[in-house]
Amino acid sequence: MLITNEKQADGYYQALLNREPSYVGVFFVGVKTTSIFCIATCRARKPKRENVVFYTHFKDAMDAGFRPCKVCRPTENTHEAPYEVQVAINLIRDCTKAKITDQTLRESGIRPIFVRRWFNQHYGMTFQTFQRMYRINYAFQELKTGKTATSTALDSGYDSLSGFGYTFKKLLGHAPTLNLENAVILIDRLTTPIGPMFVCATEEGICLLEFVDRRMLETEFEDLQRRLKAPIVAGENAHINQLKQELAEYFSGKRSEFNVPLHTPGTDFQNAVWQMLGTIPFGETASYQEQATRLDNPKAVRAVARANGMNRVAIVIPCHRVIGKDGSLTGYAGGLERKRWLLDHEKAHGQNLVKG
Ligand SMILES: [Zn+2]
Repeated sequence: MLITNEKQADGYYQALLNREPSYVGVFFVGVKTTSIFCIATCRARKPKRENVVFYTHFKDAMDAGFRPCKVCRPTENTHEAPYEVQVAINLIRDCTKAKITDQTLRESGIRPIFVRRWFNQHYGMTFQTFQRMYRINYAFQELKTGKTATSTALDSGYDSLSGFGYTFKKLLGHAPTLNLENAVILIDRLTTPIGPMFVCATEEGICLLEFVDRRMLETEFEDLQRRLKAPIVAGENAHINQLKQELAEYFSGKRSEFNVPLHTPGTDFQNAVWQMLGTIPFGETASYQEQATRLDNPKAVRAVARANGMNRVAIVIPCHRVIGKDGSLTGYAGGLERKRWLLDHEKAHGQNLVKG
């Protein structure tokens, strides 16, 4: 949880300045200028009050885009991490380019199950999730700071630059050759009650909204850059700001439809499917079969399902409202738990909104 009480935050800030051991694990402090988070006792130079935010949990700090500090090592020091966990974390830090698989862990004499269990127990996430978020947070920060990544590294206590070999290219793929001057896709991050998301927009409108841990996210980024012939760079515009506002209203149950303009490059068929998705009312569901029939193409069930899966603007284009004929949730790129959450949320608030 983000600490919003100013008085409490001031108290934590004082504890941070004093390096109070009794506050280790009580709060995690995110430093906005470096996207690093620390525990109270960190030896690194203390950030200014206006540049910090406080969280009650490790995962909250990661969700908000911060990475664990290399000086105070919140991962290991909040809960005396056993040797195997420490080695696993070091592997991620020293090798930000390659994915650390179970195989890699085993080769280093580490039991993957043990590490996974430890992360689940202490931080509410799997080791793989931790690794993925670490990378994504790193890459996003790198994108934001551009060429200043090196100074960011030194500033935040990274005594070695070895961990900074990872570039956003790895995540985004290679930007295509551009024909349009100045055309860019802007990317920003936001947090929701069910996890952090990336949002992308062009001047025309929102072109992507996805959970940061969505499978195949890298492929989507590449695809988007290729289709729009524009590179992804960090930033925000009016569409992104409008979306953030509307999403906040959606999540608080006050909004059932989105008005923000969309920019959804795709085939005619895909666009027809996406358009159709928008006609399933808030709080209701439809089956792939029903969608195909509505498109006057009852045999195209699988093609409809595929186009559904290609939707890049989650929630706003409500592909989560399509379920199996028998009522089963079938699939969701953001994970079935999120799909269930969204449907429950809409069901609960749909009635209120209609009556209100
Ligand atoms: Zn620190």
